[in-house]
Amino acid sequence: MSAIRVRFAPSPTGYLHVGGARTALFNWLLARNLGGTFILRIEDTDVERSTKESVNAILEGMEWLGLNWDEGPFYQSDSFALYKEHVQKMLDNGTAYRCFCSAEELGGKRDLAMQEGRKPKYDGTCRERSDQPDAPYVVRFRAPQGGEVAFDDLIKGRIAFPAEELDDLIIQRTDGTPTYNFCVVIDDANMRISHVIRGDDHVNNTPRQIQLYQALGFPVPQFAHVPMILGSDKARLSKRHGATSVISYRDMGYLPEALINYLVRLGWSHGDDEIFSRDEMVRMFDIGNVGRSASVFNPDKLNWLNAHYIKNCDAERLADLLLPHISSRGVSTLNGPDLMAVVRTLQERAQTLEEMAERALFFYHAPQSYDEAALAKFDKAHLAAVYGVVAERLAASEADSSAGFDALFKEICTEKGWKMAQVGQPTRIALSGGTQAPGIGEIIEALGIEESVRRINAAREFVAA
Ligand code: GLU
Repeated sequence: MSAIRVRFAPSPTGYLHVGGARTALFNWLLARNLGGTFILRIEDTDVERSTKESVNAILEGMEWLGLNWDEGPFYQSDSFALYKEHVQKMLDNGTAYRCFCSAEELGGKRDLAMQEGRKPKYDGTCRERSDQPDAPYVVRFRAPQGGEVAFDDLIKGRIAFPAEELDDLIIQRTDGTPTYNFCVVIDDANMRISHVIRGDDHVNNTPRQIQLYQALGFPVPQFAHVPMILGSDKARLSKRHGATSVISYRDMGYLPEALINYLVRLGWSHGDDEIFSRDEMVRMFDIGNVGRSASVFNPDKLNWLNAHYIKNCDAERLADLLLPHISSRGVSTLNGPDLMAVVRTLQERAQTLEEMAERALFFYHAPQSYDEAALAKFDKAHLAAVYGVVAERLAASEADSSAGFDALFKEICTEKGWKMAQVGQPTRIALSGGTQAPGIGEIIEALGIEESVRRINAAREFVAA
């Protein structure tokens, strides 16, 4: 193991968002590429908003995507004693101080600053006070004054903030609980994190955190701030653009490798390549090749990748993945063709497992109705003749493969002087109810001759009625 240690640090206040998943993926890839360690840390110090359900949803999403972690999950809520200890240390060595200013006083000062067009900032009233009244207090960081705080972001380049813009950050609230930026620093230092890769909504926290590392005498890690994901209207990706939870993509019938491939390209590039296996990603990933600008989420591209992975997926695995999508429609696959055979007929043309499930249903359920508009394109006598001949010839056929059945249909066409569409389309309607179905030979191979003949006879009765 190298000294490379990265972490994904979600706050469990909701499901695993695709943006979070991409941050996790970049961390995971960096660790795997450099032989480092990937740590999962649950940032649940906000007790009000953190829930067990969210933790479970995050773990489920990570597991589904195959983003396995080497250490953790660690919970910040288990570390309160550690945070307290460091607050005390800082109070003792003077890098922090107690602030007794009341909320009203602070509010008044803030309003005044705003009125006078100044940036609201703590004015340092308690910085140098020597008395320690018996009153509620917060603990503030004694932020170094003057100069600037700068860092070389691995994605965005050099970023500098004038120190005077940085407040004396509260590190412990009146109720004794530690604040967010403080816990992050203690944990990252304690876990010996070498690279902090996170969303660029945290850029403004970084200079404060760097000052804290320095005050605590901890080495400062490298930072990489990943640009946001936007919706098609260039606003930050949210529910109003469609699904944003990783698990909802699973439920909508996406393969994890398709979502992972999609997410890695959302910001990262390697030449003009679009398709990456997991191994290729791990081998080629370089945080320096993540772009500086925000990326736009494009559902069409995700569908294209999903179709690619469905097409190339092993039929047995695909059948396993497809099964819950069929079962959730109240359909059992027990009394019908082997699901693997059905999968093979559908995987060439499906964009999602949901779509595949929809198209697989007729294999397990004889049509209850027919696409009458499609049937109306043929006259009744022709349909009766086609169904009669096809049923008879199929029943007598010894073919057992799609190629064999296709050959039989060609033979029938030649003999009767029919065009393929004049036979194929009515047969497809008889077998599936509609016209959107795989090739005739493939359907019959999966359904078997007996069931196919039964369906053709049913359609024949329907048109005769
Ligand atoms: N808990 C923070 C979040 O979910 C991440 C903090 C970090 O990565 O430093 O946005």
